[in-house]
Amino acid sequence: MQIEERRIEQILMGKYEENIRQEQNPFMINHAMIDVLYPELADLLITKYPTTKETIKRIINNLTLHDTNLTPRFYNIQNKQAIHNIHSQQQGKLVEITGKVIKTTTVFQQITMAAYQCSQCFNISHEVVKHDTKIKKSKQFTCMKCNRKNWQKLNVEHSTFEDIQIITVQENRDDALDGHKPSEIQCILTGDMIQSVKSGDAVILNGLVELRNASERNMFKEFIIVENIQSENEDYEQIQLTQEDIDEILLASKDEHLITNLRESIAPSIFGCNEIKEAVLLQLFGSDRINVQGSLKRGDIHILLVGDAGLGKSQILKFVSDIAPRGIYTSGKSSSGAGLTATATKDVNGVWTLEAGAMVLADKGFLCIDELDKMSDNDRSSMHEALEQQTISVSKAGLNTTLDSRCSVLAAANPKFGSFDQRNTKLSLAQQINLPDTLQSRFDLIFIMLDTMENDNLMLEQMFGISEDKSVYSVDFIRKYISYAKENVHPEFIKESMLLIQKYYLEWRQHQRDTSTSTKVTARQLDALMRLSRASARVRLSDVVEVDDVERAFSLAKYCMNRHETEFVESTHEQVGYKEDVNDKRTYEKLCEDIKRLSDDYENKIPSTVIKRHFKDLDFNWNFIERWLRSMDSDDKMVCDVTTGAWSCVGEWYKD
Ligand SMILES: [Zn+2]
Repeated sequence: MQIEERRIEQILMGKYEENIRQEQNPFMINHAMIDVLYPELADLLITKYPTTKETIKRIINNLTLHDTNLTPRFYNIQNKQAIHNIHSQQQGKLVEITGKVIKTTTVFQQITMAAYQCSQCFNISHEVVKHDTKIKKSKQFTCMKCNRKNWQKLNVEHSTFEDIQIITVQENRDDALDGHKPSEIQCILTGDMIQSVKSGDAVILNGLVELRNASERNMFKEFIIVENIQSENEDYEQIQLTQEDIDEILLASKDEHLITNLRESIAPSIFGCNEIKEAVLLQLFGSDRINVQGSLKRGDIHILLVGDAGLGKSQILKFVSDIAPRGIYTSGKSSSGAGLTATATKDVNGVWTLEAGAMVLADKGFLCIDELDKMSDNDRSSMHEALEQQTISVSKAGLNTTLDSRCSVLAAANPKFGSFDQRNTKLSLAQQINLPDTLQSRFDLIFIMLDTMENDNLMLEQMFGISEDKSVYSVDFIRKYISYAKENVHPEFIKESMLLIQKYYLEWRQHQRDTSTSTKVTARQLDALMRLSRASARVRLSDVVEVDDVERAFSLAKYCMNRHETEFVESTHEQVGYKEDVNDKRTYEKLCEDIKRLSDDYENKIPSTVIKRHFKDLDFNWNFIERWLRSMDSDDKMVCDVTTGAWSCVGEWYKD
């Protein structure tokens, strides 16, 4: 096909007159626009890129006033391909792909023009080197000058090299074939594109597909020689909301049971765990970065679940990674080389490759890490920075870079001995967590999950269908709700709520000084309270953090702390003189008396949380109280409403 150069000139002058006048370099051209105005040319750019580009380049440089050497670059290529679809058929064609950078190498030099020197007359001859040819240090051919066939040696000084960097781009999870791992492709960057992107960046790039000899055994692999690359800003707003969606979200936000309903919608197959679910709910909404006395702190909330096996930690994590926009599920002991943070490796040629781990790939998203206690030593050392500053610094040989890890982390870990030993008098539950204190302190909330009768009862109820399925909102709706809230709601504290948060914090510090508990209350907890309070306001779609939001945040924090402090439980009861024995008359009378009083206070519908708190304050073990409640139940003296969880007294015994 003959290219009509006049037509190209007209298009360029019509659409890019200003860019020509300003001598923009690189000269950016929208391929979609060419496709509309001159479709044949657009096709040629895809199928015969190098020569067509040269023609357009010549025309551009003829249009400028000065003697210029502008290079055209194209974007919005009308040949978009999924990475898993790039095969040899596309060889030599211009394609556009989107994905995430997962590996980058250091910059190295590749020979483009080899110089060989004759061993007889020292004449130098040049040879263009194609990308995939392996260079020989010496080879035999007939010298152009002396005409003798002899050995010619590679002369590095007279050869020409080009800087290149190889990046590996992985397709987005949504683009991957069902049931397959996302595909990857290696892309070669040259010129000013080198080091213009880093691991974790979402990119859109175009370039020529080339097959290259990837090994000694003549195995060929597809590469893309990049012609243009841009970082893509992909955020929560990716989820498209219709007016109908927004109306539904606004309506839901006015429901007085909003938080309970949303909480019940999280991992509905997991029994109980209301506090965990509520905390995770707040985590999903998160907070904006907070400014504490001039320094910016993360707004993302981190939560750690430590618990006995079989309590559904993994199921919670999997559910949440599914519901969270841009959620990723991974395991600390994952066999993949990159691990949680980042890994640097060196190949046989001395080229270093930096591979991004899960926290980098989850940047601006949500990461669920199972079996955190099994992470590698490399991860262990960079995890503090990754969680708190939300960056991962790498300084190794030629690699000196900082990667972003701006994500919320919901992690699960096992206790030191596989399960919590509640009778251990030497180690508190907090001390049985198998992670260093410094790392624990990076989590806003740490939940200790115990295999207790409380869980058994709930499980039985669930198994026999006693509790109805309380899932109120669909996963799809919650994702939309979160997406809307994150983009549109940015709550700020009012004076009362700020004062309350300070009051709670100071009381907490005082309590810690008075009781010398093993858990430390530090400024980190204050930050955590602020994040949780803001998230609570955001769930309500409120621009103001109210006193109630602070109460909610504080009660979650306190719930976690209390569990940590359940140490020496067995030994403390003697002090108040009650035995954990229902046959002990004094204890039995005390329990009945207290329940009667609570029954009066709560119109004979006593929430189980109230019972729990009441007896906990008296240093009773909750297991024991539960057993007692069950025995009262089987004696028809008390009954539990399975939908509300409230206990009521029945019969005449309590009415005196
Ligand atoms: Zn010669």
